Amino acid sequence: MAPTHHDVIIVGGGIIGGGIAEHLRCGSRLRVSVVDGEFGACVKTSASQAAAGGINPHLYDEAHGALGPMAQRSRDLYPGWIERLSAAWGRPIELRPSGLLCVALEEKEHGRLVDDVLPLLRERGVAAEELGADEVRRHEPLLGPAVRGGLWLPDDLAVEPVRVMAALEAVLKADDGITCVQDSAESIRVDGDGVRVTLRSGRVLRSDRVVVAAGHLSHELVKDFIDWRDDSFSPIKGQILEVAAPPGGGLRTQCDALLPDDEETHIVRASPYAEGRVAVGVTHDRGDATPGTSSRATEDILRNLRRILPAVADWEVIGARAGIRPGTSDGLPVLGYVDPSHRVLAATGHNGLGITLAPRTAQLAAKLLLDMPLTEEDRADLHVGRPERLASSRSR
Ligand SMILES: Cc1cc2nc3c(=O)[nH]c(=O)nc-3n(C[C@H](O)[C@H](O)[C@H](O)COP(=O)(O)OP(=O)(O)OC[C@H]3O[C@@H](n4cnc5c(N)ncnc54)[C@H](O)[C@@H]3O)c2cc1C
Repeated sequence: MAPTHHDVIIVGGGIIGGGIAEHLRCGSRLRVSVVDGEFGACVKTSASQAAAGGINPHLYDEAHGALGPMAQRSRDLYPGWIERLSAAWGRPIELRPSGLLCVALEEKEHGRLVDDVLPLLRERGVAAEELGADEVRRHEPLLGPAVRGGLWLPDDLAVEPVRVMAALEAVLKADDGITCVQDSAESIRVDGDGVRVTLRSGRVLRSDRVVVAAGHLSHELVKDFIDWRDDSFSPIKGQILEVAAPPGGGLRTQCDALLPDDEETHIVRASPYAEGRVAVGVTHDRGDATPGTSSRATEDILRNLRRILPAVADWEVIGARAGIRPGTSDGLPVLGYVDPSHRVLAATGHNGLGITLAPRTAQLAAKLLLDMPLTEEDRADLHVGRPERLASSRSR
């Protein structure tokens, strides 16, 4: 059978690959193929379907550097993106203006938030406020008595990633210009005429360009084009639970806390969804790429949650999900061509911020694929994601 030709093949239909396809669908007439072995699967293992759904441009240390402006730009694209996606899907997707409370139990963590993080955010013009113990509880009455205060970031948003992923898959499958292929890419080769993608089934697809957005497996697929340093990528497994508030109850705001103990720092996240459901978590196991949830992770999540939001830890657990975050050694994403002929574009390494960064990643990837002019801001964000920073010195 002759190979099928596309303008662009996107390997991976998570929020990054799916988001890029959706962007191309709206802004171009390119013939796009999205390849993902999990299309239509009942049980999915992508990071995107497991995520909490916080759109938190300034939460992590990495965001206090050059990633912050990129993440803020992505946050600002969210309302328009969700409105467009929801209209194309024909069903509502709720984007909650829930804000974010970063809270602390201990003096050291409280000092980090107030003395280190807050001035950095203010310097950047990010809306952020210091709150004492009583004030944080006025924002979120379910916070426990041990919480000593924290920061309030009013502009953070929350979305339900499972719903975004359902919308993306439905919208892409319904589009005549997009072919969704339920298969896995095994190899990618560049020759004089373009790119050949060989699938597990033996089928070969041809295109002018390929985007590799296969989450934590992406770097393996492009290793013939770029000699990554050994420690550049690592899977980071995360589990999350969904709990249901009793009738009339519910969480008002997103909450985040870091709980250092002797061996590791635990992360407590709580993100309000519709109908009183709340996503709570999260585990953060670097180096672990095993699929599936575990009862040990469930126990850890509830034990840590009880210290911050004790009442929520007693709500009924109605679901558990796990996914593998695509981790990089510097915590920054990878976005750019990895081959000299500019045919293979890597879009991965979004660590714990892929939901937040999805619309900006899609916008930038589309500009590269369509050879559009770049603004100063585009160049700055693409500099953050330049793949060659993670290459071994012999290939730079
Ligand atoms: C528990 C948890 C909570 C999180 N919470 C948040 C949050 O609140 N906010 C936030 O911003 N981020 C959050 N994240 C991070 C975010 O989920 C990830 O950064 C993001 O989903 C990565 O998206 P992706 O599309 O790159 O990867 P994935 O979602 O993993 O998608 C990759 C896709 O590629 C496919 N694939 C893999 N190999 C191949 C192949 N060879 N051929 C074809 N297809 C392939 C897979 O089937 C998969 O569908 C969280 C992550 C976890 C695990």
